[in-house]
Amino acid sequence: TASTPLLDIRNMDVAYGGIRAVRQLNLHVHPGERVALIGANGAGKSTTLRAICGLVPLAAGSIDYQGRSLAGQPVHAMVRQGLVMVPEGRGIFPQLTIEENLHMGAYSRQDKINFAQELQQVYQRFPRLAERRLQTAGTLSGGEQQLLAMGRAILSKPKLLLLDEPTMGLAPIMVDKIFEVIEDIAQQGVTILLIEQNARLALEVSQRGYVLESGELTLQGPARDLLHDPKVRAAYLGE
Ligand code: ATP
Repeated sequence: TASTPLLDIRNMDVAYGGIRAVRQLNLHVHPGERVALIGANGAGKSTTLRAICGLVPLAAGSIDYQGRSLAGQPVHAMVRQGLVMVPEGRGIFPQLTIEENLHMGAYSRQDKINFAQELQQVYQRFPRLAERRLQTAGTLSGGEQQLLAMGRAILSKPKLLLLDEPTMGLAPIMVDKIFEVIEDIAQQGVTILLIEQNARLALEVSQRGYVLESGELTLQGPARDLLHDPKVRAAYLGE
């Protein structure tokens, strides 16, 4: 039904050894939404994404995707259902060419009928990647690697795209470019959960936001409200 969230995290705890990195987290994303998860270093943002992808086990709670539990599902099964993550550090293959990396995006896809055409669309959108398509990905700049990771994600036909700090370490002009690409991907109907330290841009591009502090959600609501919240402004917007 229209009211079923695409992603529904309930009462989730995640622990490393005995230490709880995330406590009693409740977070949902509806189809077509853009949602930001913001917080300081070590707040538990990456841990939350890793838990969604099954890369760290839950100590409590549940995660449903399209109304079904993700527990025990391998990553390739998630990708096949449209749940795609662009990890921190981008997860590209540095020894492979740009084109080979882009082909990896379609690896788990069942229909590759339009792949050649979609690849051309990615190249049109990212001319820098087109110019360098036979170069190894490790030779790209950090920003170009991020574009490659996003291009590859687009080619895996995501329904829900999980972005882990896509602008980390990038120059301001590249940060703007990445956010343009996020807008562009969202326009095409892809639902987005965005983890960012750049709280302002993340909230500006999102409809809703969650604030995570030391593993617990402290604030949530419409992104516009969070942008005007005095606590958010003081703690995350540098005001
Ligand atoms: P950042 O923006 O710095 O990446 P974050 O909000 O993504 O921060 P996490 O990486 O999720 O935070 O880390 C949350 C907490 O869990 C931190 O205290 C971190 O030290 C701890 N942690 C993360 N990964 C591990 C691990 N593999 N083993 C032990 N502790 C970990």
